[in-house]
Amino acid sequence: MDYKTHFPLDRFQKLETPFYYYDLELLTRTLDAVAQKANSYGYRIHYALKANANGRILKLMVDRNFGADCVSGYEIKRALESGFPSEGIVFAGVGKADWEIQLGLEADIASFNCESVQELRVINQIAREMGKKAPISLRINPHIDARTHHYITTGIEENKFGINPWEWEAVVETLGETENLEFKGLHFHIGSQITDKEVFKGLCARINEIVQWFTHRQLTPVIINAGGGLGIDYTDPDGPIPDFEAYFDIFRRHLDLRGGQELHFEPGRALVAQCGTLISKVLYIKDGVNTQFAILDAGMTELIRPALYQAYHSIQNLTSSLPPRKYDIVGPICESSDCFGKAVELPGTQRGDLIAIRTAGAYGETMSSGYNLREKVNTWYSDEI
Ligand SMILES: *Cc1c(COP(=O)(O)O)cnc(C)c1O
Repeated sequence: MDYKTHFPLDRFQKLETPFYYYDLELLTRTLDAVAQKANSYGYRIHYALKANANGRILKLMVDRNFGADCVSGYEIKRALESGFPSEGIVFAGVGKADWEIQLGLEADIASFNCESVQELRVINQIAREMGKKAPISLRINPHIDARTHHYITTGIEENKFGINPWEWEAVVETLGETENLEFKGLHFHIGSQITDKEVFKGLCARINEIVQWFTHRQLTPVIINAGGGLGIDYTDPDGPIPDFEAYFDIFRRHLDLRGGQELHFEPGRALVAQCGTLISKVLYIKDGVNTQFAILDAGMTELIRPALYQAYHSIQNLTSSLPPRKYDIVGPICESSDCFGKAVELPGTQRGDLIAIRTAGAYGETMSSGYNLREKVNTWYSDEI
């Protein structure tokens, strides 16, 4: 794809920094690509709202008939307000509070993706009290190592996510006894930022075995949900969009679907990461012992991924053309982990320069916080400026 995000610098100079800048042209291209590929395979997309829940972005998802993958009652509310039909909303998460379960039942969402026997019993009871039948998918822990950062791995044994094999018998028994639950399918989500295709092949093989195990016990899933997790290339912000064709093709070749079974996906990052950039201004340049610090007006409060997961983001100086040197790029927050990158080579950088932290559209703005009593970061879209 020969498309490169354009930064309107004359406009940026006049805007208050820091802010998130979303390239809607790139987002549209990405969403059209995934929609077209998914439709051609007959797969269904539920966008994972937690990656980015801005109204403009959600509308583009709704326009393409994507469903919504929510992990809180607040996200269910946002999804409904944004126009996702309730039959396209699924609800995952290890700790669903009673009010969140009630909200989901009231709205008639498509599925509660359940993570424990106790949760099944609680949902059953709340559904009974409300005179409803709760659609249930079982979030299975398939014991697959996603080979990604350990903070974003969710499918290995000692993880809080998903139902472990030693609990499956009890789950089957519980579903046999609970009258207000309706079994719909099996759900898998093994982690995020997965770039090794072999991991998805291994997941397919495990899903095949697990589907068989449940089918033998009279629980035949209609929906198989392979979760999200498709990784992107943070080192090449202007590179091609994720290869959805290759991704779906792994599942087409390696997953056994029987007649009537639907395959669902829940991408988050792969859809929205590339279109977002955090734009910040340099406040100060400070000499360290062996390094120079470029101190920005954006910090971990606006983008916490580097501090939280040692995540890499490509950093660019948009306004300097001086000879390059190396900088530690840090924020203003009172934490030593408030650092976007160490020994980053940039053109000679000075107070007032505009800095772009690229590929920040996913888990950037949604994870922003008010630490140090900072205010919510601003947002601009490419068609507004
Ligand atoms: C976070 C999450 C996703 C999306 O993950 P990405 O890595 O952003 O694609 C999908 N499903 C569930 C259940 C999640 O928690």
